[in-house]
Amino acid sequence: MNIPFLDLKSINLRSADAFSDALTRVLDSGWLILGKETEAFESEFSTYCESGQCIGVGNGLEALHLILRGMGIGVGDEVIVPSNTYIATWLAVNYAGAIPVPVEPDEQTYNIDPDRIEEAITPRTKAIIVVHLYGQCADMDPIMAIAEKHGLKVVEDAAQAHGALYKGRKAGSLGDAAGFSFYPGKNLGALGDGGAVTTSDTKLAQSIRMLRNYGSEKKYHNLAKGYNSRLDELQAAFLSAKLQLLDSDNSRRAEIAERYSEGLKGIPDLVLPHVPEWSSPAWHLYVVRNSQRGALQDYLSSQGIGTVIHYPIPPHLQPAYAELGKKEGDFPIAEIIHREVLSLPLGPTMSDEDVESVIHKVEVLLNGKSI
Ligand SMILES: *Cc1c(COP(=O)(O)O)cnc(C)c1O
Repeated sequence: MNIPFLDLKSINLRSADAFSDALTRVLDSGWLILGKETEAFESEFSTYCESGQCIGVGNGLEALHLILRGMGIGVGDEVIVPSNTYIATWLAVNYAGAIPVPVEPDEQTYNIDPDRIEEAITPRTKAIIVVHLYGQCADMDPIMAIAEKHGLKVVEDAAQAHGALYKGRKAGSLGDAAGFSFYPGKNLGALGDGGAVTTSDTKLAQSIRMLRNYGSEKKYHNLAKGYNSRLDELQAAFLSAKLQLLDSDNSRRAEIAERYSEGLKGIPDLVLPHVPEWSSPAWHLYVVRNSQRGALQDYLSSQGIGTVIHYPIPPHLQPAYAELGKKEGDFPIAEIIHREVLSLPLGPTMSDEDVESVIHKVEVLLNGKSI
């Protein structure tokens, strides 16, 4: 059996003809950076996200960083981040010169717990970054209410949540601004690196457009110490092609997730994803928890089934964040999640047969079901 964790080859081969057309278009235009293709994709993606504005940038980390810079957040400021996230969320805060202040997740959804945010707010707090982890939106209404009460900005890290819905509204339209990643393995993935900011704030959008391009609106006139962080024409053209498939891909992901949740129900020591009634996830990942996660991963691997751990070490225990002086036990909910999670194979081109095989193998190991 060979069931890869994510079959990027088959995912991208479906668009081979559209990619060829895109390449031809870009070559014929003779224009490679910040041109018609990027503008077209920005317009399509802002429509998709119901956000008003979209700015194509170099990657997801840069999207978050430029949002914070555009909001004027920097040295001496604090930004609330989830303790349970990919390290990029935290790094964006450090890039801006500010300090990440972690807040523990809800134990069921693994997303930032709105009830724990207020105790982390200080006079230096400027913003909250929420992460729609694994493709499921954070509980935005209470978070927006807290932000309003304390005069804070809310940034969505939507790198895993293209197309996710919160109470029927799209990820990318829920806070003051959102950062998306088009890293190849994301639900909307480029053929290389890419990212975008979405926002309805036209002034913020204008600052970010300036910051992504050396701080200039007019060539060689630099208004701020900006960056070189642009979505290039070729990736934008590829992304326009793939955006056509995003909704049907997300539906197929949801179908697979539903089958997993049905087939894996009731297995001892296996915690399945919790989906609140207001949530319609993009199902970037299907993440289970098991106290013997290593054994489960090894067994599935021995059976030809690829899995990935998202993520093995929480940011506060990474050597990169030694400066914070945090230790094991400081964020126990994030830590136990990091110890137990395992992401099962999930992708839009995965067959029903492969989904059933994964379910069967998990049952064999954890339920003692006969082979
Ligand atoms: C992928 C990811 C990022 C970073 O995106 P890049 O394009 O790799 O820079 C940020 N946050 C989360 C939650 C991610 O999954």
